[in-house]
Amino acid sequence: MAQLQGKELISIANEFGTPVYIYHAEKIQEQYKKLTHAFRDCDAKIFYACKSLTNINVLKYILSLGASLDCVSINEVKLGLMAGFEKENILYTPNCVDFEEIVEAKELGVNINIDNISILEQFGNKYGNSYPVCIRLNPHIMAGGNFKISTGHVDSKFGISIHQMRHIERVVKTTKLNVTGIHMHTGSEIKDLNVFLEGLEVMFTMAAHFPDLKTIDLGSGFKVPYQPGDPETDVDALGKKLSEAFAQYEKETGKKLQVWFEPGKYLVSQCGYLVVKANVIKQTPATVFVGVNSGFNHLIRPMMYEAYHHIENISNPTGTSRIYTVVGNICETDTFAWDRTITEVREGDYLVFYNAGAYGFEMSSNFNSRLKPAEVMVKDGKPALIRKADVFEDLLRNQVLDQ
Ligand SMILES: *Cc1c(COP(=O)(O)O)cnc(C)c1O
Repeated sequence: MAQLQGKELISIANEFGTPVYIYHAEKIQEQYKKLTHAFRDCDAKIFYACKSLTNINVLKYILSLGASLDCVSINEVKLGLMAGFEKENILYTPNCVDFEEIVEAKELGVNINIDNISILEQFGNKYGNSYPVCIRLNPHIMAGGNFKISTGHVDSKFGISIHQMRHIERVVKTTKLNVTGIHMHTGSEIKDLNVFLEGLEVMFTMAAHFPDLKTIDLGSGFKVPYQPGDPETDVDALGKKLSEAFAQYEKETGKKLQVWFEPGKYLVSQCGYLVVKANVIKQTPATVFVGVNSGFNHLIRPMMYEAYHHIENISNPTGTSRIYTVVGNICETDTFAWDRTITEVREGDYLVFYNAGAYGFEMSSNFNSRLKPAEVMVKDGKPALIRKADVFEDLLRNQVLDQ
């Protein structure tokens, strides 16, 4: 398994400063290969959900592996084109965007997933059957690690309900839309394969409504371990089940469909390490705090999703284990972890947060007028700076002075 060692992380932290996000290219490759191997018996296409990590060097690397790209904003589409992805290998899956953004995506020539009837109607009125579209459906399957990251439930804003199929059909028929794909994405961190299989059955039923259908997009939701001992979605077992299901569908209908996936976390979560420095050790009546030179302005997942990120003290790996509460330096409750067993932390030690690749840097901010950290990518054992840390002037960029 591709993994960076404490020594390498320390040397990068010394060279580039802390906090620093470090991405290990070979780990991304390892995850990508696991997917292509798992789905080798399906006609599968993998679109990297780049909202998880959009540094253009990461995009270029993922392109070099042979992946396609899933985008949720028009700017991500533009970044993808800039990175070198072909337009036919870019999928635009927006939600609640202005129709003008859909028009722009059409002009850029990328695949488009439409997720509400109003836009579907406007698209049909404007383009008729001259440009193919995919439709994002809500199969009403409850899934995912956390309500906030679950998208298939009845209260979700995503997708068009499968119960509105009559309305979809009316729009498609009247405007002569060419529907070539249907899509579902029920949430993140799904370990129960039945969620995908039940979703696929729903999609097969819906497929009968679209004679020109070529693809079924099953979105993402592949889980990777965050806590030691956590399970990972069994993609091999899923691949086997899916290839059987698609073969059966072909036998029954004579139609051969391609399957699309949009993994984000699965590809880039584990490649990432956030290395921070312990600024202060603070004993209170209740606990021992480690205050680090970072905060939820750099890694918001613990505060936002109660996400677990494994933490180690790479400066003192053989020290005595002690119990700590790890907090950031933001003036707000800013807790990375409660009651964590970590080898003894001294002021100045480097700590590492694992699984920091997906939704780490990408969700960072300048809250408290603090600076965003640098990003470094390690490939063939060599670290390269792929984004400079902010400097003070960046805080003032775009502010109108002297008003
Ligand atoms: C966020 C998102 C994904 C990626 O989800 P992960 O849990 O990171 O794999 C895929 N597809 C769509 C439409 C998304 O919004």
